[in-house]
Amino acid sequence: MSTFQAPKGTYDLTPPRSATFLAVREAISAPLRDSGYGYIETPGFENVELFARGVGESTDIVTKEMYTLTTKGGDQLALRPEGTASVLRAALEGNLHKAGNLPVKLWYSGSYYRYERPQAGRYRHFSQVGAEAIGTEDPVLDAELIILADQAYRSLGLRQFRILLNSLGDKECRPAYREALQTFLRDLDLDEETRRRIEINPLRVLDDKRADVQKQLTGAPKLRDHLCDACKTYHEEVRALLTAAGVAFEDDEKLVRGLDYYTRTTFEFVHHGLGSQSAVGGGGRYDGLSEMIGGPALPSVGWALGVDRTVLALEAEGVELDLPAPTSVYAVPLGEEARRVLFGVVTELRRAGVAADFAFGGRGLKGAMKSANRSGARYTLVAGERDLAEGVVQLKDMESGEQSAVPLAEAVAELTKRLG
Ligand code: AMP
Repeated sequence: MSTFQAPKGTYDLTPPRSATFLAVREAISAPLRDSGYGYIETPGFENVELFARGVGESTDIVTKEMYTLTTKGGDQLALRPEGTASVLRAALEGNLHKAGNLPVKLWYSGSYYRYERPQAGRYRHFSQVGAEAIGTEDPVLDAELIILADQAYRSLGLRQFRILLNSLGDKECRPAYREALQTFLRDLDLDEETRRRIEINPLRVLDDKRADVQKQLTGAPKLRDHLCDACKTYHEEVRALLTAAGVAFEDDEKLVRGLDYYTRTTFEFVHHGLGSQSAVGGGGRYDGLSEMIGGPALPSVGWALGVDRTVLALEAEGVELDLPAPTSVYAVPLGEEARRVLFGVVTELRRAGVAADFAFGGRGLKGAMKSANRSGARYTLVAGERDLAEGVVQLKDMESGEQSAVPLAEAVAELTKRLG
């Protein structure tokens, strides 16, 4: 019988690389946790309708990429393709916005699913860490989120990323722009599908990656020229706050992003080491989303950073994270009695907060010492019958190679002292 493989477009996270993923999640969430964002967790699936309305019926995510299923009870569900619609749904359902403390600031971390054509950096199952600030319209909030993402990437040691920034306007000015753009686009030589897109979501045509389409787009009306005064002022304020914080960004009027709900501020973090899938994260303001999914008006802003692509970006830049060895002490028993005694020491060490591991399976000294080496432990404890008869264990410093006998009763205290 052949063995099973991970489904197409997915991969497993296994040690030691998985430790980098955990460290990336930790690094992205740390600035959020220090800035008043509370942790939220929502189900891995939602009613399909939430995404159809929340993400947008015309987006690739909804039309092509959702994993949908009908339950035995007849419910139409979808594996979540992104986080914002779910988090807003949960905030509304839990009345978090009525607790009198706006904005509601939340962060999340989890698995997302899109039925995409797999390639380097693009998977059908991927991880994001995200943040949402719900219920407040304030350019400081937009700036805060961009600054925190920048801080997260920098704390990881990433340097070769850029921040692209744009404003998509709001319900006052975007409709007129949309119409002007449609008029321009209808005269172009475009395929059927793109023509349909002109009618449903013309801004997304600007995002078309094909060179022949891009060529025709020279001279397209620019959103910048259509922004209303309120949007212009708002955007200038966001830009000024970023500049004051020393966060470099580039204005990119072509940045529209693949989701329908964005208004005003939109941004993307791109990394040049990633080839065609260069976006490591992105987000923006979504002032109309709450109403689109049946809630009250709650202007909000948020982002999601891709964990998989952040790890790829670290690898592309050659950044090695300074991860502590998972094991500090490794115990090597020689004989039955030593097994019981050293396992007792290991248990005590663990209870004292020292990361400790054990040579299981009664292997010989040579094999067990190899495992001790591989574990990265700073110290090894070795004990045989003669040591126990003398009431000692051998404590070996794996860095200096020095070895000394330590009274068994003092082993835990000695190790906790040495490990600081
Ligand atoms: P989006 O929700 O499309 O703006 O995606 C936000 C971030 O999630 C992107 O910048 C990527 O880092 C990550 N991401 C989105 N889709 C995928 C995918 N199919 N595979 C890996 N990462 C993804």
